[in-house]
Amino acid sequence: MPRTELILVTGGLGFIGKHFVRRCLQEKRFVRNVDKISYAADRAAMEEFAAYPNYRFHEADIRSLEFLPECDVLVNFAAESHVDNAIANARNFSRTNFLGVENLLELTRAKQAPERPRFIQISTDEVYGDIDKGSHRESDMLTPSNPYAATKAAADMLVKSWGRTYGITWNIVRPTNNYGPHQYPEKLIPKSSWRMRRGLPAIMHGDGSYVRSWLHTEDTVDALLTIIESGERNRIYNVGSETELQNIEVLRAIAKILGVPEEKAWVAIEDRSGQDTRYSLDDTAVRKLGWKPRRRFHEELESIVHSLDFTRFA
Ligand code: NAD
Repeated sequence: MPRTELILVTGGLGFIGKHFVRRCLQEKRFVRNVDKISYAADRAAMEEFAAYPNYRFHEADIRSLEFLPECDVLVNFAAESHVDNAIANARNFSRTNFLGVENLLELTRAKQAPERPRFIQISTDEVYGDIDKGSHRESDMLTPSNPYAATKAAADMLVKSWGRTYGITWNIVRPTNNYGPHQYPEKLIPKSSWRMRRGLPAIMHGDGSYVRSWLHTEDTVDALLTIIESGERNRIYNVGSETELQNIEVLRAIAKILGVPEEKAWVAIEDRSGQDTRYSLDDTAVRKLGWKPRRRFHEELESIVHSLDFTRFA
């Protein structure tokens, strides 16, 4: 099979999207990136990508986009992605994560069948809800616990139904919690690092005992390219990790890197409403394609903490 060359990315200035775009550009694939440049968009990545001759940028909202340029695959990263924001006000989450996906599916369907791109929806482990023991498989029922996860689960339903009803070709990819350089400082690692660096305690929800799996963004990019090149069409792929940590352990590791004594490193606040206790994914299917995570959390964390750069964002 020839390599996939013409890639339409949505949300390619966000945390995971920009790592994917950068890799594709370095591999000399042609990338068109549609992003509305929200608060979470990385302005430095915008400048960096503009220097590539194999890159085009369109500032647009996926909900009101009116046409899809020629492409072989469409990879939809665009989303409102922060759970705390969804709990405060879910409306934007429904607009982008649900109606935005519906619009992209409709634009895909409107093309003549041979010209339709494969639709790759970036979903999340959160659509399954939590699991105390064992791991979620792709066939498990979706029981999202918060409005963010609910809009992502609803989008997955749209993608599968557009596949069945209109015959579009699709994949849904469900990665676990990503970590890596230059994440917007609202998420646990960059926010906590930034606060500790300013002499403030990090904010810990509840007792910090809930467990997350940690997957490096570059491992996510590897998984996505593996699925794009050799994944089975019209199926879901979980992308998990081998590193499970309680949030308090993550804070402890950041404090150690920054030399902050533990008693000053965090302050506990009320637990997040609807807090999931643990996520875990069975990712046998993507591993059968030859993928496995290669980066190690404790080896990568130090450079990530030190690479924090809030000037990248508005
Ligand atoms: P992010 O919040 O860092 O970036 C989102 C990007 O999408 C931004 O560049 C933003 O400007 C753009 N965007 C938002 N709304 C848009 C709209 N209506 N139209 C066009 N562009 C829009 O998100 P992220 O962390 O990179 O997550 C990317 C995807 O991966 C999301 O779909 C998210 O649900 C999923 N995901 C994220 C994680 C994680 O740990 N970050 C884990 C699993 C799945």
